[in-house]
Amino acid sequence: MKNKPPRLSLARLPTPLEPLNRLREVNGGPRIWVKRDDLTESGAHGNKIRKLEFTLAQAKAEHATALVTCGGLQSNHCRATALLGARLGFKVHLVLRGEHSGAAAGNLMLDQLAGATIHAHPAPHYRDNLEELLAGVASDLRAAGEKPFIIPTGASDEIGVWGYINAAAELMEDLDAEGIDIRNVVVATGSGGTQAGLTAGLHLAGSAANVWGMAVCDDADWFKNKVRQDLSGWQARYGVDIDIDALNINVDDRYIGPGYARATPEVFDTIGLVASTEGLVLDPVYTGKAFHGLLSECRDGRFRDDHDIVFVHTGGSFGLMAQAPEFAASRGGR
Ligand SMILES: *Cc1c(COP(=O)(O)O)cnc(C)c1O
Repeated sequence: MKNKPPRLSLARLPTPLEPLNRLREVNGGPRIWVKRDDLTESGAHGNKIRKLEFTLAQAKAEHATALVTCGGLQSNHCRATALLGARLGFKVHLVLRGEHSGAAAGNLMLDQLAGATIHAHPAPHYRDNLEELLAGVASDLRAAGEKPFIIPTGASDEIGVWGYINAAAELMEDLDAEGIDIRNVVVATGSGGTQAGLTAGLHLAGSAANVWGMAVCDDADWFKNKVRQDLSGWQARYGVDIDIDALNINVDDRYIGPGYARATPEVFDTIGLVASTEGLVLDPVYTGKAFHGLLSECRDGRFRDDHDIVFVHTGGSFGLMAQAPEFAASRGGR
């Protein structure tokens, strides 16, 4: 490797690795271990903080004074950026997809508490003009004497992938300590950076385990391409010796359901099952969908019962809190 990336220490690491024994008693199937990245921080918890340790270090190295990033109204990434930006003294501007009225809940409420400036746009306008919207905010900031740093969706780029390259090495140490070997790791995939880092990181750490990205929005081809693109950029920027074409990029896009952030009653049932057997909270946008996919695949025999599996819990609980009406509707009078 030619260049080492700058890094800030922001997350509470290492996170625990825990087996879901009670769920297995009820549900059968293989033993599932959870890598508790829902415990990386309090407000800024989840997977994004691992990436932002590198992204925000880069922003500091470039003497930025303001962060500009984007996502849905309930973006976990934007919430983590708003809180960590406040912690580090950056001004934070969020370009958000969707219109909101009335009281802000969940992640959006935390964005406001953290003092971030919100620029919300109707979904079609956001989709067609995201680059221009980000550039516009950055240019207004420059005119006001600030030095903006733009972070792409989910901090998934050649810098952010470092977060899960390192998490993969941490996971290998956890597995060593438990004395177990795994063949499969399952994670929700939304902008690809977590899957990219885990896939390359496990390979670099000498593991032959397959990483399965459970898509929560776009299709498998989109993600395979995105993961390779992030990894190629990373390899080129840091001069890493790795054959990216030889990596298995596995994406399962059959559990997206009605669309991004929209979960079926079955997903809410799975969230309830895990909360009521393990006291573990999943969310309807990412981890609940991915875990529902994992249990379905176990039932359909993709994963053998005698092979341990790791599920990476990427956080998202504030997104669950923002879906109280959807949760109630999923119960439909039950
Ligand atoms: C962003 C996010 C993901 C997806 O991670 P990507 O690196 O964007 O693919 C998964 N789970 C939660 C809770 C997230 O906030």
